[in-house]
Amino acid sequence: MSNALFTKPSFLAFAALLTLTATSCKKNDVAAPAAVATTEVSTPTGTVSAAEVETLTNFIRTSTGEESVSYDAAAQNFVIAGDAVMSIEEARAHRVARQEGAQTEHRQSYYTVARAKANIIKVFVDPTVPAVWRTALDRAIANWNASGSYLRIAKSATYATGMLKVVAVNNGANGVIATTYYPDYSGNVGKSCTINSNYNYLSAGQQIFAITHELGHAFGFGHTNSTYGMLVPGTPNTDATSIMNAVCLSWTNFTSYDLLAIRKVYPR
Ligand SMILES: [Zn+2]
Repeated sequence: MSNALFTKPSFLAFAALLTLTATSCKKNDVAAPAAVATTEVSTPTGTVSAAEVETLTNFIRTSTGEESVSYDAAAQNFVIAGDAVMSIEEARAHRVARQEGAQTEHRQSYYTVARAKANIIKVFVDPTVPAVWRTALDRAIANWNASGSYLRIAKSATYATGMLKVVAVNNGANGVIATTYYPDYSGNVGKSCTINSNYNYLSAGQQIFAITHELGHAFGFGHTNSTYGMLVPGTPNTDATSIMNAVCLSWTNFTSYDLLAIRKVYPR
């Protein structure tokens, strides 16, 4: 458990993100109502006391077995063994989870994408989707393709059943940036993702975060701050910077627990 806790991705260091939500469920197609309320956008970390830095440094040392843990005050990140980066929010969340002995973990929906389909996922982008969101979608697809999992996602110029269709509709300033279906009982990727084009003004980083999060639902991942779905062993519900937490941050990377959960559900 303590080894798995801070598993380092081989290809990248990780940094901070954030989030939250609730989900409804129907039998077959389960919509993940979701996403990213603009009123819940990230709050500044504020000042960090020397005492807290020491406490968290010691916590990271004991939980990872790495002696080399330093704090970068400017970036508000811990640097572990010279290359892995953990935000202070993530360190706090891990410590809280450990103190509470939390059994609450990353969540997967009742269906995930079938293995035979998971490495040939097709995404069709409807003409209603504005250019800014197309750019964000391309980045989000690249993020998932680089997650070290079995998932392989590509866009398709034409639509066919079994694909994820991305559309845009202006639903006004309702606080919901996008909604996406979970995979169905046949193991197809979630059938659609609907972007609220009221939020075309979000920053590029926020849009990448939002669509990376929505793709997570389409692949069967629930919210890390919700009780919907089944637990992914070895991951905490209190992963405050997880891509699957429901508050929209600006994309930096998956958290270490995101990657753990993704690779557990979709192993290579
Ligand atoms: Zn969501």
